Amino acid sequence: MISRIDLRGSAGRAVLDSPAALRDVMPRAEFDVEAALEKVRPICDDVRHRGVEALIEITERFDGVRLTDIRVPADTIAKALGDLDPKVRAALEETIRRARIVHRDQRRTDVTTTVAPGGTVTERWVPVERVGLYVPGGLAVYPSSVVMNVVPAQEAGVRSLAVASPPQKEFGGLPHPTILAACALLGVDEVYSVGGAQAIAMFAYGAGPCAPVNLVTGPGNIYVASAKRLLKGRIGIDSEAGPTEIAVLADATADPVHVAADLISQAEHDTLAASVLVTDSAELADAVEAELKAQVAATKHTARVTEALSGRQSGIVLVDSVDDGLKVVDAYAAEHLEIQTADASAVAARVRNAGAIFVGAFAPVSLGDYCAGSNHVLPTGGCACHSSGLSVQSFLRGIHVIDYSRDALAEVAHHVVTLAEAEDLPGHGAAIKARFEWGLPE
Ligand code: NAD
Repeated sequence: MISRIDLRGSAGRAVLDSPAALRDVMPRAEFDVEAALEKVRPICDDVRHRGVEALIEITERFDGVRLTDIRVPADTIAKALGDLDPKVRAALEETIRRARIVHRDQRRTDVTTTVAPGGTVTERWVPVERVGLYVPGGLAVYPSSVVMNVVPAQEAGVRSLAVASPPQKEFGGLPHPTILAACALLGVDEVYSVGGAQAIAMFAYGAGPCAPVNLVTGPGNIYVASAKRLLKGRIGIDSEAGPTEIAVLADATADPVHVAADLISQAEHDTLAASVLVTDSAELADAVEAELKAQVAATKHTARVTEALSGRQSGIVLVDSVDDGLKVVDAYAAEHLEIQTADASAVAARVRNAGAIFVGAFAPVSLGDYCAGSNHVLPTGGCACHSSGLSVQSFLRGIHVIDYSRDALAEVAHHVVTLAEAEDLPGHGAAIKARFEWGLPE
């Protein structure tokens, strides 16, 4: 059911030696954010012009729920925590504790550089004022995504923070109770029962009780990604985190049972989710394929997993060596990359492009989804070659503060004036000369 791409031998070598050809043969989901813009633009315009009224109508259309209030009352959030299964509460608390210690270490300190005597540049790190955090809730619900969005924002020092998640019919039009409980555990009391593109528009333009935000983060489906692209500029965004992906780079030392289980764990997110195995061992490929057959039949979401594994976005890529495998995974730039080879740490150290790297037999992606302490909101669709996952840095801006004395300016004034003249901007030079009564200092 999972397709194969054979990059062994001389034909494979020709592809491996061309980054563009390699990118073209790699399996990838059909996720046309540009095409979805047509659908998403009227939704966003409607929210912009009609606010809450539009949100209520659009939610009824897409989520089948008639909201009376878009904001979840504070006592409902508190009650969700009271009703939470103690085992789930303990697991969420441990997830939060681990995420917090990792993200706390990512805090930036201001750095002042003395460029010349009396001349300094300080990089001051300032948190974004208000952020909107999107927590998906269509096919699956992701209380873990509450943690992954909220913790870095809090550790960055963001003062105003709102969460939006789709209303669930079976919970009276509220977001899933475990999502609300996670909000309560994190001290978040501004939560909206709104999903999809309309939630991103609500954050961008403001609507009723929701004031506009400066930055929106969080993963979502194609409508969420498309709205983020459309509204980027009015708001900042993290990345267009789309359907999830795993790539496993494995050699003959890998356990096919583990590899198959990890490929399935990703495929169960979404029919568009991608599971890719890259290996130099045909025996491992065969064993993983046999394992997939057995494990898929026994897993809960068999239909969804089967569709994801047999989709054009999933596959087994055969290569001649782990070195060639590294070329493949770098070209693919997976959201999640597992290294299951001999000397996995050394191989992992050579990877250039990935959202997150999971090293060795005991660091499966499931660990990173919940309790590794790392962030699980990661770039997809190849964006890992230019973007990072969510972190404290995502919620900070670095402001340069320039402080020069008269003497420090005097020392460099002639260079500034020369460059201003070279750019034909004499007003720039004049602004320097005015400080020295319209000439250059001695
Ligand atoms: P979602 O919350 O992103 O989207 C659900 C919303 O989509 C609904 O509220 C509805 O209003 C809207 N919608 C549904 N059909 C629509 C239509 N025809 N037109 C306009 N709007 C419509 O939930 P989801 O759909 O389950 O998607 C979640 C995605 O997030 C999955 O692809 C999953 O793989 C991904 N994800 C990614 C990460 C990551 O870090 N990259 C983490 C978790 C989840």
